[in-house]
Amino acid sequence: MTETSEILVPETSHGKIAELVRGILVQLGENPDREGLRRTPERFEKALRFLTSGYRQDPEKLLNGAMFSVCYDEMVVVKDIEVYSLCEHHLLPFFGKCHVAYIPNKKVVGLSKVARLVNMYARRLQIQERLTNQIARTIEEQLNPHGVGVIIEARHLCMVMRGVEKQNSLAVTSAMLGAFRENKETRDEFLSLVKGSKQ
Ligand SMILES: [Zn+2]
Repeated sequence: MTETSEILVPETSHGKIAELVRGILVQLGENPDREGLRRTPERFEKALRFLTSGYRQDPEKLLNGAMFSVCYDEMVVVKDIEVYSLCEHHLLPFFGKCHVAYIPNKKVVGLSKVARLVNMYARRLQIQERLTNQIARTIEEQLNPHGVGVIIEARHLCMVMRGVEKQNSLAVTSAMLGAFRENKETRDEFLSLVKGSKQ
């Protein structure tokens, strides 16, 4: 994956998280030296640094070079983008689908870049509402479209694993800007296009 090549963490901080995780394992009453756990702190550090690598990516750089001029002003929809993020309140995953739509104003962006933008913001500690807004605002700023709509449907492990909510409950958030906010027809068109997407 080319995305990982953009991750730059100062050498001096390597191993710092692993050290702390060792302490957590001890606090849990575990023996961090037993075979199964011996390399867990390092694995966890590596995973966590990857899952938060979005902090070290720049949305402008990400979209730059992938924007094209077009004479197209119909709605562009990218639906069912898989999204995996970490809730900042519990550091547990939430995951689901993200649907993005915009109405171009002379500029469009490569479809794969939309998914990469979603990933970039998802790979930070998040709440679902902010993630939804950041995706919408960035597309608004970078493409200056006539409108943007973003919907995220996600399950939060901090809820389902702790039995706070029914196992199948989905949290749905949306951000509607420009035409998507002002024009009910535009919004309805978007909603009907993404309806029926499978979880
Ligand atoms: Zn949570």
